[in-house]
Amino acid sequence: MTAMTDNPLLAPWTGAFDLPPFAAITDADFAPAFDTGLAEARARIAQIAGDPETPTFANTIAALELAEATLDRVAGVFYNLAGADSTDAREALQRDLAPKMSVFSSEVTMNRELFGRIEDLWQRRDTLGLNAEESRVLDLYRRMFIRAGAQLQGEAATRMAAVKQRLAVLSTRFSQNVLADERGWSMPLAEADLEGLPDFVIASARAAAEERGQSGHVLTLNRSLIVPFLQFSPRRDLREVAFAAWGARGATGGETDNRAVAAEILALREERAKLLGYDSFAAYKLEPEMAKTPAAVRGLLMQVWTPARARAEADAAILEGMMHEGGINGTLEPWDWRYYSERRRRAEHDLDEAALKPYLSLDAMIGAQFDVASRLFGLEFRALDTPLYHPDARAWEVTRDGRHMAVFIGDYFARGSKRSGAWCSSFRSQRKLGGEVRPVVVNVCNFAKGDPALLSYDDARTLFHEFGHALHQMLSDVTYPLISGTSVARDFVELPSQLYEHWLEVPEVLQKHARHWHTGAPMPQDMLDRLLAASTYGQGFATVEYVASALVDLAFHEGAAPADPMEMQGRVLEGLGLPHAIKMRHATPHFTHVFSGDGYSSGYYSYMWSEVMDADAFAAFEETGDVFDPETAAKLEKFILSAGGSQEAEALYTAFRGRLPGVEALLKGRGLLDAA
Ligand SMILES: [Zn+2]
Repeated sequence: MTAMTDNPLLAPWTGAFDLPPFAAITDADFAPAFDTGLAEARARIAQIAGDPETPTFANTIAALELAEATLDRVAGVFYNLAGADSTDAREALQRDLAPKMSVFSSEVTMNRELFGRIEDLWQRRDTLGLNAEESRVLDLYRRMFIRAGAQLQGEAATRMAAVKQRLAVLSTRFSQNVLADERGWSMPLAEADLEGLPDFVIASARAAAEERGQSGHVLTLNRSLIVPFLQFSPRRDLREVAFAAWGARGATGGETDNRAVAAEILALREERAKLLGYDSFAAYKLEPEMAKTPAAVRGLLMQVWTPARARAEADAAILEGMMHEGGINGTLEPWDWRYYSERRRRAEHDLDEAALKPYLSLDAMIGAQFDVASRLFGLEFRALDTPLYHPDARAWEVTRDGRHMAVFIGDYFARGSKRSGAWCSSFRSQRKLGGEVRPVVVNVCNFAKGDPALLSYDDARTLFHEFGHALHQMLSDVTYPLISGTSVARDFVELPSQLYEHWLEVPEVLQKHARHWHTGAPMPQDMLDRLLAASTYGQGFATVEYVASALVDLAFHEGAAPADPMEMQGRVLEGLGLPHAIKMRHATPHFTHVFSGDGYSSGYYSYMWSEVMDADAFAAFEETGDVFDPETAAKLEKFILSAGGSQEAEALYTAFRGRLPGVEALLKGRGLLDAA
């Protein structure tokens, strides 16, 4: 047997802040480290299940919380790297691990002795002298086991494990297919094709060519490049080609086509829900969420849909009129929308994105997000010089009153090895069980690289959004890993992130931080005023493309699984009356929120559910007359940002605000109140 310590993933991590020794880890280390982690977890779980002592909270629940320590440590590194910096070897291992990890997870939740101990504790819960957090964790364990199928017997139990294993394989394949299609398409842009594009788009197209080892300029399917191209390029022919390629991800035929994968995933999810006695997957999935039922989700979405669609239809007529005035007849198409909308924004708000960006450098906006956290929560950030997993990633130590709180990693630039979108995850979560452990949190974005990197206002909002999630992890203050940080209901988890976006819109934040990257001059006041005045511009479009996606997601999981998801998608959109020139934000074949894992399945509505709360939560600050009001910030930290999943989401929100919110603040925030 080789010594465990030969493997840097398994040896003690003795560097600064116990960070993973990124420089020493090679792809070949992962598979054996997972084997060791799995073997160790299996042995510990067998020990807990077979313990001759009477079950106690300590020898069962607390022991389970630490049983997978090694596996968690290895998985924490691997899955972050697989998402942010994949290699062929990592993708192959990910495919290999998906069924293996699923089998392990089914073994645990279907272990009869183990569930017997949890059930026994739960029956005796009032006599165990548990504190509030322990009671909550016990409840959640029991719920998690039952929802995973712990009460199933015989054939049903076997089938459940097989269904979950197949789902794990399919969801991995789904996201790898999207990544392959994104990587596989690019369009060279000749000098003449650059006409009308602002410098920052040309620079991004040059950087994209360089990254691919090509000369000149190329267009890729990265959102930070293709969206500005669609906004600025007067070349309707090129916009049409680019838009078609963007919309075709996951549906290009051949090996990476996701349409059949999506159908099989939906059928298996329905079967899984039925095995557990639910009418539909949506009913199963929504039960522990704030929304509770598909009807509640539909109710919220339709309340927003109607005014948003009315606004979008009115906008479409204006944009089509602009197109006709420009001498192009016919119907406004989806590849025209962003172009004419950008021109209208310039005309109505005198706001030119290209003129704005020099004031929104990445470094300035990082400074802004840190400064707001410092004013609200007293956090301080110090850049760390430490090797990470990619040269573009940067790290900071986060402290408060001299005390170490977290390590924060920012990995901001798009590259071919990174999946699209933006997200927050952690290499290590906060916990106090077995000694205090502080988190290592990462924000991953896909901003176009540049020298310096300049953000759009949307990019800056994404930066603040992900940092809100990071705060939920970094301020976490719980004992048990199960409820740490962002381990909350899915339709509650976007509250801290979307709430944080509001501080980007505070004039004094932009006055202080939006400075020209070269001259250091602050953003001119009139530009700032116009920027903030335009904040609800385009909300008809944004709301419609989002709500359409959320309603298709809900329809997929609400009744019988469709044999042909594309047909159902078409039917739902037609029934809604989706305006001709707007497509779903994420069409089914590349809807990774819904199909690469269960996270947002019948849960894409969560952003809007959380938005109802974030609009109302920011109003709590505004009502004090000070958006940095220390008392409100302290309450936000106490009841939400540090509390993790220690109580049900309604209870946490009510503790912060004294009541639950209505939908009006959301409609007002999107400028849709008068469109109803
Ligand atoms: Zn988010």
